[in-house]
Amino acid sequence: MKQNNGQTPNNENLRVVIRVRPPMAREIRDGKFISTVQVAPDNLQLCIFDYHAIELVPDEDLEQYVSNPSNYTLHQFTFDYVYDQDSTQEQVYNTTAALSVDSTLQGYNSTIIAYGQTGTGKTYTMHGFSFNPNSDQLGIIPRSLHNIFNHIQMKSNSSTTFMVRASYLQIYNENINDLLRDSPTLNIREDKKRGVFVENLSEWAVRGPAEIYQLMRKGNAKRVTASTRMNDTSSRSHAVFIITVEQIEEKVEGKSAKVGKLNLVDLAGSERVRVTGATGQRLEESKKINQSLSALGNVIAALTENRGAKPHIPYRDSKITRLLEDSLGGNCKTTFMAMISPAIDAFGESLSTLKFANRAKTIKNTPIVNQDGDQGALLRKYQLEIQKLKQELEERSKQPLENLVNELEKEKQKALEDKQEAQSAYEQRSNDLFKETELRKQLEEKISALNSQMLVGGQKIEETPQFQSALEKQQRLIRQQYQEKLTELEKERQSIEEDKAQTDKYKQLLLKQRDIMIALTNRLNDRDETILQLQEELDVYEKLQKENEDQLHLKQIRLEQFEEIFLEHKIEIPLMLQNQKQNNKEKVVDIQNDLQIQKLESIPVQTLHTNQQVQSDALISYELKNQIEINKQLQFDMKLTRIELEKSKNEIEQLKIKQNQEQTTLIENARKSVDRILEQLTSEQSEQNLGNVAKELNQLQRMLKQGLQPIRNHVKGQYSFSKSTSDSPNKIVLINKQNDQMAKSTGQLVKLMQMKPQPKQNQSPVQSSKLKQKQKSVEDLWGQI
Ligand code: ADP
Ligand code: MG
Repeated sequence: MKQNNGQTPNNENLRVVIRVRPPMAREIRDGKFISTVQVAPDNLQLCIFDYHAIELVPDEDLEQYVSNPSNYTLHQFTFDYVYDQDSTQEQVYNTTAALSVDSTLQGYNSTIIAYGQTGTGKTYTMHGFSFNPNSDQLGIIPRSLHNIFNHIQMKSNSSTTFMVRASYLQIYNENINDLLRDSPTLNIREDKKRGVFVENLSEWAVRGPAEIYQLMRKGNAKRVTASTRMNDTSSRSHAVFIITVEQIEEKVEGKSAKVGKLNLVDLAGSERVRVTGATGQRLEESKKINQSLSALGNVIAALTENRGAKPHIPYRDSKITRLLEDSLGGNCKTTFMAMISPAIDAFGESLSTLKFANRAKTIKNTPIVNQDGDQGALLRKYQLEIQKLKQELEERSKQPLENLVNELEKEKQKALEDKQEAQSAYEQRSNDLFKETELRKQLEEKISALNSQMLVGGQKIEETPQFQSALEKQQRLIRQQYQEKLTELEKERQSIEEDKAQTDKYKQLLLKQRDIMIALTNRLNDRDETILQLQEELDVYEKLQKENEDQLHLKQIRLEQFEEIFLEHKIEIPLMLQNQKQNNKEKVVDIQNDLQIQKLESIPVQTLHTNQQVQSDALISYELKNQIEINKQLQFDMKLTRIELEKSKNEIEQLKIKQNQEQTTLIENARKSVDRILEQLTSEQSEQNLGNVAKELNQLQRMLKQGLQPIRNHVKGQYSFSKSTSDSPNKIVLINKQNDQMAKSTGQLVKLMQMKPQPKQNQSPVQSSKLKQKQKSVEDLWGQI
């Protein structure tokens, strides 16, 4: 076993503690984890096992391998405290950090430095990863500030006034940056009054615990972090959170001021470059980190090695050592917290961290010397010591008594010199005290100037009269602002309501417009139907006309037959009939013919007398005359009607095309506009949107009005065309009249056509009376036509 033995150092100016973090999920294999670290139950000692060639052992043999003492070397260390894997944030704070905070409150400078490989829990220990005041994950920084504020509140001595300030900085690539304010790179300065300090670093007055989280959040967001193989959120920078507590106590003998500073240092990962597999810029970065960590090691080495009365301490070799000069110089209560991982992979780094921490224990020549090193070295050291002691004893026993007296005389002389030195030091101190009084005075003035930011101890802040009156003022202001806001909101609500009403109105209007459009479309459809009907009727007329023409042709033939009969009976052909035949070949009137033929057929040819012939001649002349007139009129009317109908048809057709085009454009535009309105209405109902809707609606209304007018006019025109007589007064009246006439004449003609000529023989009296009846009805009908 390798012993790093020694007494537990009991130096309250420098404490070294170790925290072993629990294994991470990635370090646990098949639910099993082999720890290289074992913490003693007294939490003062720890052993780290160096398993030989463990990487060559198969997984299944591991348990057996690690339990065999011949397979490992044991290193044992003793520290002020060792936190095992299951330690809580609260335990770490209460047992270690709280002492530093107490020192700060007593007016000391205290520092807590977190050291260790990336991913071992430095940031977790210093910050914790929570901004919730009630979380058990809170780290040392928030807990320290909570503790300071509790102290201020609980302090029974109300004559003490406190002021708490915070700063947060980062050292990255040897550049110092303010983490609480955007600023260029900062420099370290030193003066007699303030000692070592960062020039222009912002300090923020913290008035309550709530403000801590704001500052931490702000600072953490600015920290330079990057991914490495070891830990994805590893920080490659050193971060220092500084809490300054100033306090003035009023006593009977006068005022006394105290200033305590608490530095909370989260160092960058202590691992070597090759461990993180860095290259390029990252390599440079790691070198700088290594450089600053080596400087830290050198400073500690210089402090711990006995190099005479005034040894050179290389604080200036890096920014971090320069900044921590106070903390490492001995006039500060410093706590080293070294973090290690218990994983086998991390063994090398864990051991080197423990050695570093062990070395740090000896800062300021503490009476306890704890060495690290193997057993052989220790033994050699013991041997050398024994040899040295033996030599000294021999030399002393050889020395004569006279020499001893001389030596005593020398020592006496030296003691006198020391006394004189002490006296001058005392005088110097008195001078310093005077200066200190002056300084206190100035401080007092400064504190009274910063009165607004002061916190009164021994009393809850909210109970002080200043606080109460400020609170009341603030409340009045808030109430007034609240009222104003309410009025504003009410106004806004009303305007929204109005806008809504307007929108509803427009909606209604739109609906109405839509209904009108539907109605118009229906009417247009009706009109189209009417046109179709008219077209059909026209076709019927045409058909009827053709039939009429056929009939006329037939009658022409019959007239000719008639003529023949006249010739046969040697009756002179009336002039009328001849004219008729010649002039009006197309206007052959078959109806009369039909009638006459029927008549002739019903009278036996032998019974015809001259009287009868004359009578018959007159009758035919009369009937033919009549018929010619009617036919003339009928043909003229029909021509007129056809022309008129053709014209109307064209007009309607054109109207229809034009209207369809206009309608399509209008409907398309209206639809787009409605889409836009709906889009505005469904999106956020802002004032702007409602304004747009109103505008859009106005436009739409105008568009519809303009667009609908021609349609209305067309429709009106159509209606006036169908109903009124202003445009072509006789058109429809004529058509209707012709329609009736046509219907009548058609019916008549059909009837007449059905009256087939009877055979000339076997004419019975009954048949004769039937004929008369028919003749009469035909005459009546013609009369009607
Ligand atoms: P470092 O700052 O040293 O690089 P972190 O503080 O970022 O390491 O810790 C690395 C990871 O380990 C984090 O996920 C952290 O939550 C976890 N961790 C570290 N220490 C502890 C602990 N004592 N208990 C629980 N988790 C821890
Ligand atoms: Mg970290």
